[in-house]
Amino acid sequence: MKQLFFLEPGKFEWREVTDPAASPKGALVKPTAVALCDLDTAIMQGTLPITGPFAFGHEFVGEVVELGDEVDGFAVGDRVLVSFQISCGSCDRCASGLTGSCREVREGAMYGVGALGGDWGGAFADLIEVPYGFMMMRLPKEIDSAAIASGNDNLPDAYRTVAPGLAEMPASDVLILGGGGRSIALYAVMIAAALGASKVDYVDDSESRLEIAQQLGANPIEGPPPEKMGRYPITVDASGRPDWLATALRSTDSGGVCTSIGIYFQDPAIPFINMYTRGITFRTGRPHSRASMPKIIEMVADGTINPSSIQTTAGWEELPDALENPPLKLVVTR
Ligand SMILES: [Zn+2]
Ligand SMILES: [Zn+2]
Repeated sequence: MKQLFFLEPGKFEWREVTDPAASPKGALVKPTAVALCDLDTAIMQGTLPITGPFAFGHEFVGEVVELGDEVDGFAVGDRVLVSFQISCGSCDRCASGLTGSCREVREGAMYGVGALGGDWGGAFADLIEVPYGFMMMRLPKEIDSAAIASGNDNLPDAYRTVAPGLAEMPASDVLILGGGGRSIALYAVMIAAALGASKVDYVDDSESRLEIAQQLGANPIEGPPPEKMGRYPITVDASGRPDWLATALRSTDSGGVCTSIGIYFQDPAIPFINMYTRGITFRTGRPHSRASMPKIIEMVADGTINPSSIQTTAGWEELPDALENPPLKLVVTR
């Protein structure tokens, strides 16, 4: 089968590789809608210490083409959203919702980042092996594949930055610092507005993203931000910049929650005394893909959020050229 490999910034290559096989507990899936994760975009820009060559792509919807003997509840031909993280579904961590930290596989096991994630293959391919049926969720007819392609990763990542806080502290003001997680920050705006935030302040230094944030219901604020921006019960760092993260932390109100989706390879400075004095909670870490998928599917199906509004689609035959200078959120379909 054909598999798209990321080689180095600006360079991709289709390679002929051996077809994967379905394990008894898993399935083979043909990816039909693959989105570019914000992490992919950063890898493609060469700003992270993650280097090629490796099989690329991990946000996807696909069609089941083969099922292992032990998998129940699915049929060949089913359209499924697949967790980007490898999760068994039966260990204690998977059972408690920590599906991104499954005990059956190594820490950080995921598709599309090569050896760093355990070499599970990539979604820009004719086929992808899903080792556990648990990782898949069948999609209802009313959901468009392209609209939910990010529903296994960047959408859950955005959801966890604002939804738990708004459930605990309804109608709170929300501050989102964007730019690093380009789509995650804007999905967070979308979700915060849908879940009844009183006000969403969005900081970025990109005019086009500020405009989109405004269309999604945010109050756009041109960055860089000052050291402190006031007091918000819920703050989100999706900036990828240590000084912006510090602003988010300093702007979190007493008893508030700051969530960072950033991947900082070098330890950023933390305004500890400010956090201590206000008694804030700081959350970081990867999202838990499979555990979050039901909620995301529900929100897209009932129209609470419309991820398509910030996405651009391209055809499979346009690969790999479509990956050059990608738009805010690219989804490739076939
Ligand atoms: Zn990702
Ligand atoms: Zn597990």
